[in-house]
Amino acid sequence: MADSVLIVGAGPVGLTMALELARYRVPVRLVDAMTARANTSRAVALWPRTLELFARAGGGLSDELVGLGNRVTVANILAGDEPIARVELKDVATPYPFVLMLPQSETERVLVRHLEALGVSAELGVELEGFDADGEAVSATLRHADGRGESVRHGWMIACDGAHSVVRHHLGLPFEGDTLGSDWAQGDFHMAGVPFPVNEFATYWHEEGPLVLFPMGPDRYRMIVGLGASDEASSRAAPPPVETFQTLLDRRGPGGIVLRDAIWTSAFRINERQVAHYRAGRVFLAGDAAHVHSPAGGQGMNTGMQDAINLAWKFALVHRGLCTAPVLLDSYDPERRAVGAQVIATSGRLTRLATLKNPLARHIRNAVMHFALGLPPVQHVLEGNLTETSIGYEDSPLNGVSWQAGARAGARVAPREDEAPYGAGDTPLFTLRAGEGAGPPPAGLFEGPVDPAVRPNPAAGGIELVRPDGYLAMAVADGEWERVARYMEALGARPPAAASPSP
Ligand SMILES: Cc1cc2nc3c(=O)[nH]c(=O)nc-3n(C[C@H](O)[C@H](O)[C@H](O)COP(=O)(O)OP(=O)(O)OC[C@H]3O[C@@H](n4cnc5c(N)ncnc54)[C@H](O)[C@@H]3O)c2cc1C
Repeated sequence: MADSVLIVGAGPVGLTMALELARYRVPVRLVDAMTARANTSRAVALWPRTLELFARAGGGLSDELVGLGNRVTVANILAGDEPIARVELKDVATPYPFVLMLPQSETERVLVRHLEALGVSAELGVELEGFDADGEAVSATLRHADGRGESVRHGWMIACDGAHSVVRHHLGLPFEGDTLGSDWAQGDFHMAGVPFPVNEFATYWHEEGPLVLFPMGPDRYRMIVGLGASDEASSRAAPPPVETFQTLLDRRGPGGIVLRDAIWTSAFRINERQVAHYRAGRVFLAGDAAHVHSPAGGQGMNTGMQDAINLAWKFALVHRGLCTAPVLLDSYDPERRAVGAQVIATSGRLTRLATLKNPLARHIRNAVMHFALGLPPVQHVLEGNLTETSIGYEDSPLNGVSWQAGARAGARVAPREDEAPYGAGDTPLFTLRAGEGAGPPPAGLFEGPVDPAVRPNPAAGGIELVRPDGYLAMAVADGEWERVARYMEALGARPPAAASPSP
């Protein structure tokens, strides 16, 4: 087992991690303490960038998810009857120009099925109790639901064990940040009388707190409400009765909406925390184990899934001996920690903006947001943030040179619908894109994990090297094939025939 990876936690992030590693032919063991999967909806938004990245897994994964969910293309902000902003997801170049509303339980079910198609099952009722990691491997103690103990030794461990991560505690890694002093409630309801179409969601700003309605289907909605300051005496709020949701809807919403029945309700407090390091030697952290934040913007689960996708291709290259440079695995922490910090900051700002109490501040907020969100450039920035298509790795240690203005190393390269997604298949390959003037690469120049098929570069020429997760690694002028080869050499790239799995 020393060459395999132990993934702790089979929530959406652990499932994504296992799926990505397994399809890249890395042996994994996936365990979870829960004895049965939750069938509650929890996180309901899948953003375009996540769907783009899932498409790389093949098997029609993204299309299957899209077929099950509801596509939302418009975000409205209102204060009572007064419209403040209307943001349409229309300018983003993506095969998935919408936010997909799908219960987390459904997303997990689809991921489980795709993982099983690769021969990997999540082992439920298996809890990680403790572990020791040295320079060679990770020795772990597992406890099965029937009380049986098991000692295992794996080459690596990836902690996808959620916000209360046992692995993070065991490593003594600080989870720095705060718990906000307000209570929130949410629920999925069947509703009648909602005055906007099923492809639009609405946030109502109100002096008592915000109310958000996400359409999950023709008459099913996720409702989130701020309940005001927390009662310090109780450590955890309980969800209010359905009648309270109806009362809040009547007071803060547009009026005339009737809650027919509740499918699921819950209460929560907002934590804004991030672990100081996403890696400790042979142990990595991903998802809620590494970062938690306000659900405003609905990015928690998506950010965690993208952690997993970022790590998997790097890990597979190193594990299979196709790249040997330490910088590859070392880049996971700075790349994803920067994204996590950005998500915490943005979702925190959105939450604070929505919960302003002072009447003058609220008045100014409404006027400023009405003006600013009416400006196309501001809408464009917001769209990029929400859809996660503007996320990039501009300060990554993996970035090579950037040849021309506009195509900076670390930026997302939008996938094209008429091409296979970057990073598809069973080996994570870099992709070359070149204009007609670049000429063909010298024979035998690229022996490492680079796709031999050079794709056309529809931009202004030059040669681009795209990472297996669809971000630009480097860009050089026409003819500079040697510089690209040097970049791959710096990653310790080796031809598949010469590669041997790392211990
Ligand atoms: C009630 C609720 C409502 C939510 N609503 C929203 C929402 O509206 N929007 C949003 O964006 N997000 C929401 N979230 C958060 C969202 O569900 C998480 O961001 C997402 O699930 C994170 O995925 P994860 O895989 O990192 O962690 P989790 O889904 O927490 O999965 C961690 C897994 O690790 C397992 N585990 C833990 N310890 C061990 C151990 N020692 N050994 C083995 N297994 C272990 C757990 O059993 C669990 O299955 C909600 C969460 C909850 C609980």
